[in-house]
Amino acid sequence: MATPSYQRWRELAAALVPRTEAFINGKPAPARSGRTFATVNPATGHTLAEVAECGPEDVDAAVLAARRSFEDGVWSQARPDDRKSVLLRLAELITEHGEELALLDSLDMGKLVTDAHQIDVPGAAGLFQWYGEAIDKLYGEIAPTGPGDRALVSRVPLGVIGAVVPWNFPLDMATWKLAPALAAGNSVVLKPAEQSPLSALRLAELATEAGLPDGVLNVIPGYGEIAGRALGLHPDVDAIAFTGSTAVGKLFLRYSSESNLKQVWPECGGKSPNIVFSDCADLDAAADAACAGIFANQGEVCSANSRLLVAREVHEELVARIAATAPDYAPGDPLDPASRLGALVDEAHTRRVLEFIEDGRNTAHLVTGGSRTQVGGRGCFVEPTVFDNVEPGSRIEREEIFGPVLCVTPFDDEAHAIELANASRYGLAASVWTSDLARALRMSDALRAGTVSINNVDALSPQTPFGGFGQSGFGRDLSLHALDKYTGLKTTWIKY
Ligand code: NAD
Repeated sequence: MATPSYQRWRELAAALVPRTEAFINGKPAPARSGRTFATVNPATGHTLAEVAECGPEDVDAAVLAARRSFEDGVWSQARPDDRKSVLLRLAELITEHGEELALLDSLDMGKLVTDAHQIDVPGAAGLFQWYGEAIDKLYGEIAPTGPGDRALVSRVPLGVIGAVVPWNFPLDMATWKLAPALAAGNSVVLKPAEQSPLSALRLAELATEAGLPDGVLNVIPGYGEIAGRALGLHPDVDAIAFTGSTAVGKLFLRYSSESNLKQVWPECGGKSPNIVFSDCADLDAAADAACAGIFANQGEVCSANSRLLVAREVHEELVARIAATAPDYAPGDPLDPASRLGALVDEAHTRRVLEFIEDGRNTAHLVTGGSRTQVGGRGCFVEPTVFDNVEPGSRIEREEIFGPVLCVTPFDDEAHAIELANASRYGLAASVWTSDLARALRMSDALRAGTVSINNVDALSPQTPFGGFGQSGFGRDLSLHALDKYTGLKTTWIKY
């Protein structure tokens, strides 16, 4: 898919009309309180739109619409191949409206519009297609009960799913929940992050246009502590599929225990190690990947390779190569296809990232970057930043910064690399660079991570499960395994 020119993106942005109302029972609706909140473009500081600020009464209306649509069977009892047709049509519509959806995410949260257009939009369309194609090929089981008994085990949709998502990949994080949940026949109430509600509102309209019955997908923009909390505590929500920070993931587990024991599937933060051994066959490739692994999407990636662990023998050389490559990621206008790094999501997050950088200046060696910068005299931009000789256990090494900040620590041998890598409360992803297959497999066995990428970073696809261990949460997105979150097993036992 060719991407438009800088000039064309600016024209499209000027003509964009964002949807600003909640989407409940197949229709746009203002918040019942009449309240709105501003969603701001972090690259310019301009308010893009005033969006409906949903409260508990809007959550009630959305859950009721979802429940009614689920109970009347219009979607939950539809033939799998009929659901497939709708999801395939939605995939087409996402592709047709790809420029608009990419722009909404770029303007809303600062990511590069080219990435949104070339990666996120095809990713979302591809995922609706993948689950649409999968859902009429899943078979149930017949239990080995013996003659006179026949026990059928089938997967049934759970009911009303609350999907609560973050702002770093607004369209894709919503799609990772919606595609399998809808394919399985559930009805959904989606709570986008307050920083980035716009693409979800447009997606719901496109889903209706694709033929999704009213009430099956509802979107309630609003603040986490209000709308998110009301959804988490709601007595008529059957499961919460959550992606976001570990602190809020824990809150959803609490909401469940305080309400109706709904299932909660948290997919949370990370501090993923990228481990380079001295037998790495291509140090240039490792340096490029180390930069891409932390600077892509401004480092606002749950599985960002934020800790680089390097064998002492190649430490100096690799850091020199990274120092030479990092400045290529100079922040630029997110609408300019030549830019390599966009804006951070908002002012508060920018200040938080800068606080970590201040901390790093006092505890580690700053190799490059380290400052806030402006593009066109404004915006939430931070230079690509690399710290070397980062002390294990220090704050920047331990905590998720969620910005373009790489922490480098040398290691002595394989056992030391494993010890450093696993000394984290998170366990989302890890990467290993080595030309020794046995070492690669030993490392994969030893690392506590949901995905271990060998000689690449951040490998993922619709075919493989994505999620983590420890305080990265225990939900799994993507692949057929994601359907486990959105279905229950039912046994029908027949005597004959
Ligand atoms: P966040 O936890 O602040 O917010 C996530 C969602 O929860 C938002 O919709 C927000 O409105 C809602 N929320 C916030 N406070 C709430 C509360 N008190 N009650 C109910 N809902 C509440 O996370 P964020 O800042 O939007 O996103 C960044 C985090 O997401 C990072 O930690 C990142 O690692 C994580 N993340 C994880 C994955 C993954 O697949 N594991 C993917 C992307 C992002």
